[in-house]
Amino acid sequence: MGYVITIDGPAASGKSSVSRELAKSLEIPWVSTGAFYRGLAYAALRQNIALTDREKLSELAMSNEWRVEMTPQKTKVWFGQEDVTEMIGQETVGNAASTISHYPEIRQSLLDHQRNCAVGVKGLVAEGRDCGTVIFPRAEVKIYITASSENRAGRRAQELGLDQKELVKQQEKRDHQDSTRKVAPLQVPEGALVVDTTEMNFEEVVAQVNAFVASKLN
Ligand code: C5P
Repeated sequence: MGYVITIDGPAASGKSSVSRELAKSLEIPWVSTGAFYRGLAYAALRQNIALTDREKLSELAMSNEWRVEMTPQKTKVWFGQEDVTEMIGQETVGNAASTISHYPEIRQSLLDHQRNCAVGVKGLVAEGRDCGTVIFPRAEVKIYITASSENRAGRRAQELGLDQKELVKQQEKRDHQDSTRKVAPLQVPEGALVVDTTEMNFEEVVAQVNAFVASKLN
């Protein structure tokens, strides 16, 4: 297993962009662990499985009807032979992912797949909610990225072409769910560098993260 850098934080905090950039400069892969929850939620929606049917969701979590693939640009999700990466980016899928992420047995069945991303590579950047606390508690470097809720919703609104006010409401609900759930809630991992990007541009964020990573890995 290679070294691991974890990047946790709330919805649309810019974790994926920072992870992609960091992975590129270190020449290692990166994974969005949220893609596992989004992929499962998407497969459930496509198969008309209720988001409350824990038994069927658990079966689906372990099935090979859908899968996650790491690529330098994006963490892709496949539903059968279909690339559904664009579809899982929708807020409806993000909200459904947040709903099913409460079930401990579902978290458990995705855990091995998430950990396996660090096997057979020299290093991995893993981003999500519980990367530094549960998936990779012994990660060499832990980072927590956040920003004001307006700032995050603004970013996502631009990406998806949606109404910012509506997104603020949806995101606050999702963040609340993710931070207050009993199992693996979103929290700042011990020893993590906390970066509040509200007043920073992307280059400044990347520079701060790179400096911290270099100080930890060298
Ligand atoms: O990061 P992303 O927005 O893609 O995550 C979608 C949802 O998946 C989150 O709102 C959260 O409920 C869940 N998730 C999680 N643990 C992770 C990553 C994502 O519970 N490590």
